This record gives sequence, structure tokens and C-alpha cells, in this order.
Amino acid sequence: MSDKLNISITKTAQSRLADIDFNNLPFGKTFSDHMFIADYSDGTWKDFRIVPYGEIGFSPAISALHYGQAFFEGIKAYKHADGNVSIFRPDKNAERFNLSAQRLCMPELPVDIFLKSLETLVDLDRDWVPSKANHSLYIRPFMFATDPFLGVTPSATYKYIVLTGPVGPYFSKNLKVKVETFYSRASDGGFGFAKAAGNYGGSMLPAMKATQEGFDQLIWTDSKEHAYVEELGAANIMFMMDGKLITPSTRDTILKGVTRDTVLTLAKGWNIPIEERRISVAEIIKGIKEGRITDAFGVGTAATIAHIAEIGHEGELYTLPDPAKRIFSNRVLDTLNELRYGRSADEHGWNFAVRSESSKD
Ligand SMILES: *Cc1c(COP(=O)(O)O)cnc(C)c1O
Repeated sequence: MSDKLNISITKTAQSRLADIDFNNLPFGKTFSDHMFIADYSDGTWKDFRIVPYGEIGFSPAISALHYGQAFFEGIKAYKHADGNVSIFRPDKNAERFNLSAQRLCMPELPVDIFLKSLETLVDLDRDWVPSKANHSLYIRPFMFATDPFLGVTPSATYKYIVLTGPVGPYFSKNLKVKVETFYSRASDGGFGFAKAAGNYGGSMLPAMKATQEGFDQLIWTDSKEHAYVEELGAANIMFMMDGKLITPSTRDTILKGVTRDTVLTLAKGWNIPIEERRISVAEIIKGIKEGRITDAFGVGTAATIAHIAEIGHEGELYTLPDPAKRIFSNRVLDTLNELRYGRSADEHGWNFAVRSESSKD
């Protein structure tokens, strides 16, 4: 069915590729030549099209701007040594896209349309996928409400857009993080599990305050007691304690990351004991003091692994083992790099091959 999806393609008259400095790619500032757009109205998705990247027009009354019916996804495509391009586990993002849509009273997008939009767009702009080590093409699918109506009610019309852009190696600094004990990212019954735009707007003030105190990131805790660890900034969080990989179990306040699932699956394959459960801040601090925590890191598409070097909690600073010497997280990083760049066997079928237009039919 997906191969029959009718996508009209308008190519750019003048590619910007030659103007891009691939040695200097700050995250999120460089966009490829084309973007994918689809419209939703009368209860159905329509007008699938790829057009040159650029500004789009809409009414200043659209409900996305006023009431936040907007969400997104973040995915990466990698270039292999043989020139092939693959997207990492986009089927998982397609699933989560629809979880976000449901929670925000927005229309779901059929998984095959989601995958086809990514494949067709990345294929057309395949020269934008960097071939340098640790570089990738970041893919940003998103949806927003477009009814020009100031009523607090679900919009009847929406736009689905996919942007892409080359990105360099994520700033893989070891993090000094603060356990947040006042603000909350998400609350019980809320929509922290959705990649809703509003979740990120609300996180900026607490993050900025932590930066002013000298921290790089926040460890979010539960909104009731601020006693249980939930996430690290916009990434999931994991610890290796007593030889066990522990991570907060998913719930409505926690975004169920694709990288989280990937790391847990690898760990299972390596026969590492795993515990998905509630983890208290007190338990972590005790574990650090007693030298039982050997690894602590955030997991997400942007960084893959972000090592935590120090944790601040209520005025005290706790130092963790040297990130360069950590066995588990560095093994995960190496394993994923081998896999995503096509240098090792894809046992789990995680690499979604981007077929080229010429090789189809
Ligand atoms: C995107 C995101 C993650 C990580 O999800 P991945 O699918 O691994 O990229 C974790 N937490 C939050 C809050 C996020 O927005």
C-alpha cells in the first residue's frame, strides 16, 4: 500500500548543498533542500507533497499557537561506508507519534505514511546525509493544529511536516547535573509521555536556572514528592548499580525512548540483569557514596549516551566514577555506532534501509 502513496515532488531549482560547511554543523540550524508536507481535513490525510524547504503561511489564529496542539519526533539517518543510507528504528517513532497524537486529541498518521514520508524525503536529499564519522541526518517529523479559531477545542485541520538536516557529533561533554526538587517536567495524569511541544516550553525556565547554578542538565523527579528519579533533561536515565542496569519504569510522566528500549535490548542480549522500577534519589546517593554505582547516563537520539559525571542534590555534590573507564555505557556506544553505520550485523532489524527511487519496482 505504502508504495502506492501518491507524493508529488517539486524539486528545488537551486540546491544549497554546496554552501554548507559540513565541518561546522551546530545542531538544528541547517536544513536540507526539501521538506515533506501533508494536510488533514474532512477526517483524512491528503495532499502528500515534497517541496523546497522554506517558509509556509498560516493564519495567526491557528490553535497550535494558542493552545499547544503540537508535537514532534526526533530520528536519525546514517550513511554506511558503501553509500547506503538507513534510518534507525523509525517504526518505533511512528508508534510514539500516534501516542502523542491521541493524548493531544489530534489525528493519527498511518504508520506506512509516516515511514514512506521519511524514506521518500531522505532518498531525495540523500546527498545531505553526512558520510563523516559520528555525523548523521537528523529527521524532525511534527504535527500541529491549523484551525484559525480561538476556541479551546480540538482543531479539525492539521499539518504534518518533516524537516531534515545534517548534524555533527553531539557535544559529548560529561555532565554535571542537578536533581530538580522544586519544578516538575510532567505530572501524574499529564502528558509527559507525549513529545508534546508544551513539555519543552515548560522545561526551559528550570533548565536555565540550573545553568545559572553551574549545572549542564536537570534530573527530573516525580512531581508529588521530588523523591524519585524520572528523566535526564530530554533523555531517559540509567544507572549501573551492583552490576544491575536500573532505569525508572515507564509511566505517564516519562517519555518512552527508543534509545532506552534499544539499550535495554542490548543489555538483555549481554545477560546483564535489568530492573525497570521506581528509583529514589536517596538510593542513588547512597549507591554513589558506597561506590556501588559504576555507571550513570542519559539515553536519547541526540547524544545516544550522555555520561553523568557529577550529581548535585540540595546543595551537595556527588562525584561518579570516571566516564572514560565505564564499561557498560561505552560498550553500548561502540556497539550502536558499529550497527548504525552498517559495520556490524543488524540482528534486531533496527536499520530501516532507504531505498533509492531508481532501485524500486
Ligand atoms: C525524545 C525524548 C527522550 C528520548 O527518546 P528517544 O526516542 O530515545 O530519542 C527521552 N525523554 C524525553 C523527555 C524526550 O523528549
